[in-house]
Amino acid sequence: METFTGVTCPFCGCLCDDIEVTVEKGNIVKVKNGCAYSLTKYLNCNRDRITTPLIRENDKQVVVELPAAIERAAKILSDAEYPVLYGWSSTSAEAIGLGIELAEEVGGAIDNTTSVCHGPTTEALQELGLPGCTLGQVKNRADLIIYWGSNPLQSHLRHMSRYTIGAEGRWRKSRDDRTLVVVDVRRTYTARVADYFIQVEPNRDYELITALRMALRHEEIEQERVAGVPVEDIEELADLMMSCEFGALFYGLGLTMSSGKNRNIDAAISLVRDLNRWTKFVMIPMRGHFNVNGANIVFLWHTGYPFAIDFSHGYPIYAPGATSAVDILSRGESDAALIISSDPAANFPRRAVENLFKNPLIVIDPHRTVTSMRADVVIPSAFVGIECEGTAYRMDGVPIKMRGIAEPPKGVLPDEEILKGILTEIRRLKRGG
Ligand code: SF4
Repeated sequence: METFTGVTCPFCGCLCDDIEVTVEKGNIVKVKNGCAYSLTKYLNCNRDRITTPLIRENDKQVVVELPAAIERAAKILSDAEYPVLYGWSSTSAEAIGLGIELAEEVGGAIDNTTSVCHGPTTEALQELGLPGCTLGQVKNRADLIIYWGSNPLQSHLRHMSRYTIGAEGRWRKSRDDRTLVVVDVRRTYTARVADYFIQVEPNRDYELITALRMALRHEEIEQERVAGVPVEDIEELADLMMSCEFGALFYGLGLTMSSGKNRNIDAAISLVRDLNRWTKFVMIPMRGHFNVNGANIVFLWHTGYPFAIDFSHGYPIYAPGATSAVDILSRGESDAALIISSDPAANFPRRAVENLFKNPLIVIDPHRTVTSMRADVVIPSAFVGIECEGTAYRMDGVPIKMRGIAEPPKGVLPDEEILKGILTEIRRLKRGG
């Protein structure tokens, strides 16, 4: 039995790096410091697991050896005119880099789950930049915390205890040293522990942010309420923001996916920029999958764009709304797909899923999923951060090395090795080897 300390949890964008995991005979038997999600991921990592490669033959998935599955996957991708490669948020930065290489090699479109979550954030920050900082700075310095359209007590369970109101920082020692504001459409669990709760009407965040910017400039708001919020409350919040020493705005899908989308984020960035005339203020998106930020960062290094990239012309084209996986699939334009560590059949719109299933489908995933059950090729993979190492990027952009602490099932390889195998085979097929 061995206990590993300082392990990084591969579940959400907090990437908590203080987990203690005990492993006995290659299996995880005990986890300390993790939240409920973390415990579930570690302790159930072998539940509903795929342990052997599968290929569809005569409408049945049959067990094959790994080289045969890799050959079939490579053949599907090299024969396709316009394959879609989707997922990439729950794997390592190293595997994501190989994914970009693969997409370029086969002239396909590559997209990560950002296109259905914080896509508007990345669009806005490409236009305006993001006034951010590290979570460590928030922990040590922030005296005003705002969660907007985000409910960390149910989505990122240790965010508040590690980095914000429950954290013991260098200069902010306790809950009394910080003020918590929640802006949301309903009184969430997080709102119940807030000092101020601002209830905004659904899809009217842009108006509320604009009113706040007016209040900062002491401009007259000629209405009694904006977005359902009394003007006195807006002015009080503006005063609170201007008078803090270090403010941090954390925002979630309640802001990115409500009406206005990237324009909401434009407005929020402008608000934070305005606030920096009076005080120090930063903003950080609450990223979901543990390496969705890494997917954006690696896509950017290689192509200049963070998601929804089309290589069908031989160079990267970025047009979210046209080149994102949901759009390509909904229009029925692709003729094959590779899905990695994601389950689009469980959450994409119906038409996109129907078209996904019409064409050859490859899935690389540790678990059985709705998507894998309909795939033509299924290749089981090791869990990054549990069974193999790799790099992930925390929600604040800090890269963290993930460790392999347990054994994957016999013969199961990391995503990186599987992708290298497919890429090598595609190149061999193309060059007629
Ligand atoms: S908050 Fe996120 S990263 Fe931290 S332990 Fe929970 S699931 Fe893991």
